[in-house]
Amino acid sequence: MIEMNCEICGREIRGKGFKIVVEGSEVTVCPSCKQYGSEKRPSVASQQGARRVVLKRKRGSPKIEFQDELIEDYHLIIKHEREKRGWSQEQLAKKIQEKESLIKKIENAEITPEPEVIEKLEKLFNIKLREQIPEIKIEGRSKSLTPTLGDIVVVKRKKK
Ligand SMILES: [Zn+2]
Repeated sequence: MIEMNCEICGREIRGKGFKIVVEGSEVTVCPSCKQYGSEKRPSVASQQGARRVVLKRKRGSPKIEFQDELIEDYHLIIKHEREKRGWSQEQLAKKIQEKESLIKKIENAEITPEPEVIEKLEKLFNIKLREQIPEIKIEGRSKSLTPTLGDIVVVKRKKK
């Protein structure tokens, strides 16, 4: 047991000390000094209560899933990578076994290339044309019918 001294008279407190409030500050005192302050009520913001942190598990903790998305300037990057190597669109097309017209369309951002094509380009140039976009899904719909937060919250990437 920890020995305590009365914060008013300084004597050792045997047994339980009394927590009282003297001029707004909380002190631990012996039974005889208890009368100098108002006794702290254990129910209202007692020391114990203040210290205790109750961690409540939120219902429907968010799940973060990732989905691949083409980066914004993918077509410019493809063009840049191709030109860096001194390849024509036709040469690039042959390397990834695609049509020249497809390369043209990709570079002009006329079409969104198929994932397979993107993959081939990524491997060829050793670059990344996709990025993972976090998608936060809140699962565990509450049973009440009150419409609160949406069940699915999609955090969208900030556009420059
Ligand atoms: Zn005392």
